[in-house]
Amino acid sequence: MTRNITINNKIYPTKLKKTAIVICLDGSQKEYFDKALEINLMPNLKELIENGSFHLAHSAIPSFTNPNNISIVTGQPSSVHGICGNFFFDPISQQEIMMNDPQFLRAPTIFEKFYNQGLKIACVTAKDKLRTLLGNGLKYEDKRAICFSAEKSNESNENKNGIGNVNDWLKMSVPNVYSQELSEFVMAAGVKLLNDFNPDIMYLSTTDFIQHKYEPGHPTANKFYEMFDNYLGLLNSNKSSIVITADHGMKSKSKNDGSPNAIYLQDILNQKYGINSTRVILPITDPYVVHHGALGSYATIYVNDLSKIESIIETINNIQGIDVVFNKEDACKKFNLPPDRTGDIVCMSDENMTIGSSIEKHDLSGLNEPLRSHGGLFEREVPFITNFKELKPKITEQIYNYEAFYYAINNAGKTS
Ligand SMILES: [Zn+2]
Repeated sequence: MTRNITINNKIYPTKLKKTAIVICLDGSQKEYFDKALEINLMPNLKELIENGSFHLAHSAIPSFTNPNNISIVTGQPSSVHGICGNFFFDPISQQEIMMNDPQFLRAPTIFEKFYNQGLKIACVTAKDKLRTLLGNGLKYEDKRAICFSAEKSNESNENKNGIGNVNDWLKMSVPNVYSQELSEFVMAAGVKLLNDFNPDIMYLSTTDFIQHKYEPGHPTANKFYEMFDNYLGLLNSNKSSIVITADHGMKSKSKNDGSPNAIYLQDILNQKYGINSTRVILPITDPYVVHHGALGSYATIYVNDLSKIESIIETINNIQGIDVVFNKEDACKKFNLPPDRTGDIVCMSDENMTIGSSIEKHDLSGLNEPLRSHGGLFEREVPFITNFKELKPKITEQIYNYEAFYYAINNAGKTS
């Protein structure tokens, strides 16, 4: 009999016969794989799919990086874990509060729970902003956990990350935060950790710098997936149970002249309802805005005079390029959002449109290529690729990216 553990309402085996590996390839819209497979740049992925499975899953909403990475490592959407963007607005203090600190996490991670069962955990992320959230609850003194970022690999040490001198160990220097190498570092570290550390559970999370800049099939994007495929070949064996997915998709969001396609929603609402009557929150906003200029496909709006909500919803609904708009209650129910960190209204934009705040708030000077971005329903479809045939025990027909560890670990614990 296998012993089981329940984590955030899902049941996992605790005796694993293989290393359960989840790879989150940031921003990997399905077409990136299609294009690279088409010209035979991903032989290892091709073989993996032939012996495994390829599905399309839904991401959590908003289809942003942090909410989905946290969903993947807790197994639940943000209504459970609380992280619904890079920051939220607190109407009482009137402050915008960053959510990159573990104090905002409302659920334990799968890593923490398995670590407490005595298993070995390895977790590598590209950007450091995710590391403290992902590593929350891990302890490093007994050498059973390793968690570090490529970005701050030179600052890693035994007490804080379970490993020091990462750059010497991996023989790779610290990559630039805006580079393909940042993601390559994650994959190289994953291969070396599998061999040197032999974890029971491993999470590798890359960054979408390439995907924000280059469309599927672009030579630079193809090079990224070719690089990934090399490492995948080294991770895939009958000793590993692998799920490859993405935190969100990625769509072109520019006009024909190359300029960003955006609805500056705060300007529109200010003009119609007056300044300070509404507050448009874009939870994509973060310190790393060079590749998207804080323009995504999701916004939540706080309204001062609640009697105006219906009128404001109608106004937003009539803006060309808006896909859906809901009041808070409906949005939270439909998309599993935490009500206390969601505004009075939620809206998302069309496939090729983004939502901005006020035009002067967006610094677009760093956007050297036509805008590609994400956040809404058009970017929630992501690949879900496994090196095993059956997803068991099946939860529901609609697969979610945050079921990646559930299926990887259940397959790793299989008795046959
Ligand atoms: Zn992302």
